Amino acid sequence: MSTIFSKIIDGEIPARVVYEDETTFAFLDANPLAPGHTLVIPKAEYERIEDLPEDVARDLFATVSRLTDAVQTAVDADGATVGFNNGEAAGQEVDHVHCHIVPRFADDDGGSLHTAFGDFADLSDDELDEIAADVERNA
Ligand code: AMP
Repeated sequence: MSTIFSKIIDGEIPARVVYEDETTFAFLDANPLAPGHTLVIPKAEYERIEDLPEDVARDLFATVSRLTDAVQTAVDADGATVGFNNGEAAGQEVDHVHCHIVPRFADDDGGSLHTAFGDFADLSDDELDEIAADVERNA
């Protein structure tokens, strides 16, 4: 089963394509949160970030960096919110890794990524130590 984004790569579904190379692809989001909202994807289908082989992750990030500059310049943005909804719990709707580049403007009132969460997580020093050790062990 090919994802909707693979269908865009194959030209079966129309999109405003802005970049393509051997391993990565980018197009304008159909429901833009701001002018220039762009999605960057690996051409091969991987569901989540942690599924990406290292070389694909490297290529993807290189294209994200390149396109962040291109998009900001194209729409004269002051910055960009750049990120992945990784997994259903995080709001991922299309099971094909994609990075959102959402141009930001000084007066857009959009808030930072932090505003998506409301309050800070209330964690003790012991809990933080344990989490840090677990992450380090799994890295
Ligand atoms: P996410 O919630 O992170 O999975 O984001 C999926 C994104 O894909 C949404 O921002 C949609 O607007 C976008 N999207 C879905 N279908 C298309 C399409 N055919 N062309 C362009 N963008 C799309």
